[in-house]
Amino acid sequence: MPESLFARLEPHLPRVQKPIQYVGGELNSVTKEWGPDESTVRWALMYPDAYEVGLPNQGVQILYEILNEAEDTLAERTYAVWPDLEAIMRAEGIPQFTVDSHRPVRAFDVLGLSFSTELGYTNMLTALDLAGIPLHAVDRGEDDPIVIAGGHSAFNPEPIADFLDAAVLGDGEEVVLAISAVVREWKGEGRPGGRVELLRRLAVSGGVYVPRFYDVSYGNDGSLGAAVPNTPGVPARVTKHTLMDLDSWPYPRNPLVPLAETVHERFSVEIFRGCTRGCRFCQAGMITRPVRERSISTIGDMVENGIRKSGFDEVGLLSLSSADHTEIGDIAHGLADRYDGTNVSLSLPSTRVDAFNITLANEFSRNGRRSGLTFAPEGGSERMRKVINKMVTEEDLIRTVAAAYSHGWRQVKLYFMCGLPTETDADVLEIADLAKKVIAKGREVSGHNDIRCTVSIGGFVPKPHTPFQWAAQLDHETTDERLRKLREEVRSDKRYGRAIGFRYHDGKPGIVEGLLSRGDRRVGRVIEEVWRDGGRFDGWSEHFSYERWMAACEKALAGTGVDVDWYTTRERTYDEVLPWDHLDSGLDKDWLWEDWEDALDPDSVEVEDCRWTPCYDCGVCPEMGTDIQIGPTGQKLLPLSVV
Ligand code: SF4
Repeated sequence: MPESLFARLEPHLPRVQKPIQYVGGELNSVTKEWGPDESTVRWALMYPDAYEVGLPNQGVQILYEILNEAEDTLAERTYAVWPDLEAIMRAEGIPQFTVDSHRPVRAFDVLGLSFSTELGYTNMLTALDLAGIPLHAVDRGEDDPIVIAGGHSAFNPEPIADFLDAAVLGDGEEVVLAISAVVREWKGEGRPGGRVELLRRLAVSGGVYVPRFYDVSYGNDGSLGAAVPNTPGVPARVTKHTLMDLDSWPYPRNPLVPLAETVHERFSVEIFRGCTRGCRFCQAGMITRPVRERSISTIGDMVENGIRKSGFDEVGLLSLSSADHTEIGDIAHGLADRYDGTNVSLSLPSTRVDAFNITLANEFSRNGRRSGLTFAPEGGSERMRKVINKMVTEEDLIRTVAAAYSHGWRQVKLYFMCGLPTETDADVLEIADLAKKVIAKGREVSGHNDIRCTVSIGGFVPKPHTPFQWAAQLDHETTDERLRKLREEVRSDKRYGRAIGFRYHDGKPGIVEGLLSRGDRRVGRVIEEVWRDGGRFDGWSEHFSYERWMAACEKALAGTGVDVDWYTTRERTYDEVLPWDHLDSGLDKDWLWEDWEDALDPDSVEVEDCRWTPCYDCGVCPEMGTDIQIGPTGQKLLPLSVV
């Protein structure tokens, strides 16, 4: 049994920032017996960012709990260590450790990483290196864990294919148990054929992608050839996993309560998974289809249980578009009734521009707490909103914010993207007009002058498995210039300038994210070069260096015939092989292409939500053997006797 590293770590903790993040022992954390080697499967689960970002991650919390509930299985958590502790660990020879029992990560059977963003890739390399696990999968030996990636970024794991033993697409709840069963059987048999045989067994199961079993070729011009299986029994395409009955998996049941400050300090319940609104830029909406709702009664039970077990006084009702739950009105009303007069507050982090949301927001703020309201029209002009298939009219938006301001809200946040396909300066400058109209309306309906509207802008990054996967990304110079003009336009009118906040950083990180999102295996050399040059925590502006990434591209892509522009600002053609073509999200590629053509066609009509209109054959349900699962159930939340 590996010894705890805590005694070696502890003397150094007073010298690092926020040492509490490395201590573990949070409420609801679990430390299980190490168990006999032949029958126990041990997972180290990593969210490759700092504890404050990683701990609240729902995906990791759910898998941690499911694995620890399973017999002969244990899971512990590990997070990215900050550079100050990394330096000490290197100097003192302390390997990457789990926060639960402070066991060395290399002692586990599986290292599972959950990537919600590609900007965590360099942190994975730090963890592997600190753990003493070879960076390249082919160099790993029999004593090294199997390194498996999941999360949304795993839908194109090719840029990190050389560092991974495997990747899993889609919902993790069932597949982590299936993987554990394969590992347990192989261990129980005395590990026949070593790790390559274990990986083969995982690959032939059809639901685990093992990059080493697929050969990738390149043309003389740098173009990509199809990925071809090189091992008998390995499927030509690897399919995603879809959990079909969310009510049977009401996790997290024992939410972790952080010891240090984290980005979200609330208990979150996922009220449905998937989204079929059809926003063309949205990878999450596309890859998580179809919609599967949790029932109102399960949601009520999960909220009650989560609050009791954790002591949190804020509950977030999560999903990609929470107000779309068929019984959201009853859920909001029922929960507001249940917790009326208590210190429990409810929030709906993701809302569409819809006046109905104000009714919900009123329910949620009954106990007096009134957080800001955020709406995401995404496109600056009505034309852009049609291109992205997010049909919010200016009238809708003004009506919604008017309702918010007249109900006492003073602050509304609007989120937009810049750099969308076909966008011009004029489309983005319309955001200024819209913000001014919002303020004018807010002043009119509230009778107050101290109304604020914050315009927050993100750079658009085309993502795999979306209709925009073929689009050219806007270069960062044009993005920055376009947004400089918008800022001037907002500031130019003294009547409104002070009432409108403007949030935008710069376009450079978006180009790196674009490179990593749509990259192929050659991009792995860039990531490694960046990491060797000191790249860490690329999602943090104070650590991110665009210059380092560009220098690494020059060096690592030399002689390949491709460069960073080839990966980012270049439009793809229909015939081009995409790096993720052998990874099956269920979406039909021809349907995606037609949707991309519709985006470019000014005469095309809106694609409706298939929850309320006939199926438009995106391919997911027949391909995955799934179906939309929505209410109404007609149930109501009854008051809790404890309240
Ligand atoms: S296959 Fe049809 S019903 Fe299923 S998600 Fe796609 S459009 Fe909707």
